[in-house]
Amino acid sequence: MRGEWVAYAGARQGRTFLPAASFCPLCPVAEGRLGEIPFRTFEIAVFENRFPAFSDAGGALPVLPPGVEAAPAKGRCEVVVFSDDHRAALGTLSDDRIALLFEVWGARVEALGREYPHVLPFENRGEEIGVTLHHPHGQIYAFPFIPAQVRRAAEAQAASPVIGDLLRHAGELEIEALDEAVALVPPFAMYPYETWILPRRWAPGPQALSGSERQAMARLLGRAVRRLDGLFGSPMPYILTVQCAPRGFEDSFHMSVEIRPFRRDSGKLKYLAGVEQGAGVFLADILPEDAAARLRTLPAGGPA
Ligand SMILES: [Zn+2]
Repeated sequence: MRGEWVAYAGARQGRTFLPAASFCPLCPVAEGRLGEIPFRTFEIAVFENRFPAFSDAGGALPVLPPGVEAAPAKGRCEVVVFSDDHRAALGTLSDDRIALLFEVWGARVEALGREYPHVLPFENRGEEIGVTLHHPHGQIYAFPFIPAQVRRAAEAQAASPVIGDLLRHAGELEIEALDEAVALVPPFAMYPYETWILPRRWAPGPQALSGSERQAMARLLGRAVRRLDGLFGSPMPYILTVQCAPRGFEDSFHMSVEIRPFRRDSGKLKYLAGVEQGAGVFLADILPEDAAARLRTLPAGGPA
C-alpha cells in the first residue's frame, strides 16, 4: 500500500515499564542490586536490547494475501546508556561526555553498517512519548532494509546538496553557530521548535567527524536541549535522531542530528492527527524563523 515495511514484535509487550528508581536496570550494579550493566561506574554503556524489534532470530512468517510481502525482521537493536547517574539527562551532561557519545554513535554506526543497510541512533525522551525507563539512554536500530523515509531523504540529497545549501543560507533560521557546527530550525520543520545540529563540513555520519567536530556538535546539542527544556519551564519530551547515510548514499548524504519536540505550548502536546496520519502532511503552528528567533533568546546555560 505505501511501499514501506512495518515491523511486528509481539514479545516487546512484556518489556520493563517505568520501574521504581531502585529497580532501574540501567543503573550500575551495586551491592545487593541487579542490573544490565555489571560495573560500579561507567561513562557510556552499549548492549543489546533484551526486547528487540529486530534480531537475527527473526520469526515465523505469516501466510499473506498475494501482493503483500513478508520478511524476517533480522537486524539489531542496541541500548546506549548516556551516564551512570540515574537523574542525568542529555542537557545535564558535560560537553566532553556528549562528545564521547558522538564517538560511541560513530563506532556503532560503522560496525553495524558493515552488516546492515541502515543504522539509526536515537533517543526517545519523556513519558509523554512512551519512554518506559527514566535513566538517560538512547537506542540504535540496525535495519535489514533502507526505511522509505530515509531513502527519500537520501535521494533528495543525492539529487542536490540540500544540507550544504541550507548551511550556506541559514540566515534567520540559525539558532547558534560555531566554526565547525550549526544549530538551526530547518525551513521544512515538521514539529514546532524542531532543531537540527549539523556539522559544517560534509560527513555521512558521526564516524566521519573529527575530534573538534564532535566537540562542536556536542556543545550545540547540549545547549539545544537546555533551550528546549527552558521553553515552557518543564523538561521537553522529544525524539532525537542521528540521521546517517544509508548504504549506497555514503558519498552524498550529509548527516544531521534532529530533535523533534512534542510540546508545542505550556501543557499542550503536538499530536499527529487527521492530516498528518491520513495524508502525511504536517501542520505546524509556528513558523520556522519565529521558532529560531524564540530559541535564540532562551538561555542555553552550561551543564549542571
Ligand atoms: Zn537508573
